[in-house]
Amino acid sequence: MPDQPRKLILAAPRGYCAGVDRAVVTVEKALERYGAPVYVRKQIVHNRHVVEDLMARGAVFVDDLDEVPDDALVVFSAHGVSPQVKQEAQRRGLRTIDATCPLVTKVHHEARRFATDDTQIVLIGHAGHEEVEGTTGEAPEHITLVQGPEEVADLELDPQRPVSWLSQTTLSVDETAQTLDRLRQLRPDLLDPPSDDICYATSNRQYAITQIGAHCDLVIVVGSANSSNTGRLVDVAVAAGAGAAHRVDDAAEIDDSWLDGVATIGVTSGASVPEQLVQDVLAVLEAKGWPPAVEESLIEESMTFALPPQLRSRRTRPAATGA
Ligand code: SF4
Repeated sequence: MPDQPRKLILAAPRGYCAGVDRAVVTVEKALERYGAPVYVRKQIVHNRHVVEDLMARGAVFVDDLDEVPDDALVVFSAHGVSPQVKQEAQRRGLRTIDATCPLVTKVHHEARRFATDDTQIVLIGHAGHEEVEGTTGEAPEHITLVQGPEEVADLELDPQRPVSWLSQTTLSVDETAQTLDRLRQLRPDLLDPPSDDICYATSNRQYAITQIGAHCDLVIVVGSANSSNTGRLVDVAVAAGAGAAHRVDDAAEIDDSWLDGVATIGVTSGASVPEQLVQDVLAVLEAKGWPPAVEESLIEESMTFALPPQLRSRRTRPAATGA
């Protein structure tokens, strides 16, 4: 038993962001309005439980439009798609609903605007992430990806042309700042986007766990392995001084060995995680002897996004893409 009294701290904000909520509700409403099956290109959001729940209700998740039958309805995920994917859907005459988060769409607009000026764009992000693929597709000739500060020195930029930067929305705020510092050393004339691309939800969740993590022997982050913002919360908690930080998809993944000698536990969740999964984690910890969680609310959030137009109107059938 630890010497100190046990404490369970619940971070706020945590869990669903406005973009995830909109994307999940989009699939739910599409199923209600048009009936199953509703095809979804890629995971609608990066959470295993959300995806499994929607599958049980009639959503069919595919990696590629090739897997979508002609005349089917397909939803594009919150992470966004490249123009090439939209063009392919249009060519096929597929009915589409775009659940791309408006804050990802904003980054796409910025990429197009910089490319129009023939500006080189350094995109800070993770190779292979769907959001990065979608953004890169907006201006493939102009965008070069860097994954962190250590890759900046290898950039091959044309010294005669202007350079700007953009980023994936779900990165570590601190690491991105380091990458940016290196970029500015390389190119002091670096052009900034009109506003930061790391979204409010990512930075708020990181801020909250930074404040709490410093006082925790252990931080448990609820979220799936392929969720970028969940992974960053684990990194940020450790960087803030937490004794350890672990990610779990759900309460069943809590390893008892993590709890040895631990007094204070912090709990948070990624932006694609339903609150019930967090409550299940708290219930398990309470059953193991921790007191009821005390929520520490660091920032209030009130962001909401309107649903895609097809689900706001009275139309009963979404038009084919581009119509
Ligand atoms: Fe949008 Fe940010 Fe949520 Fe991603 S994490 S869906 S960018 S609000």
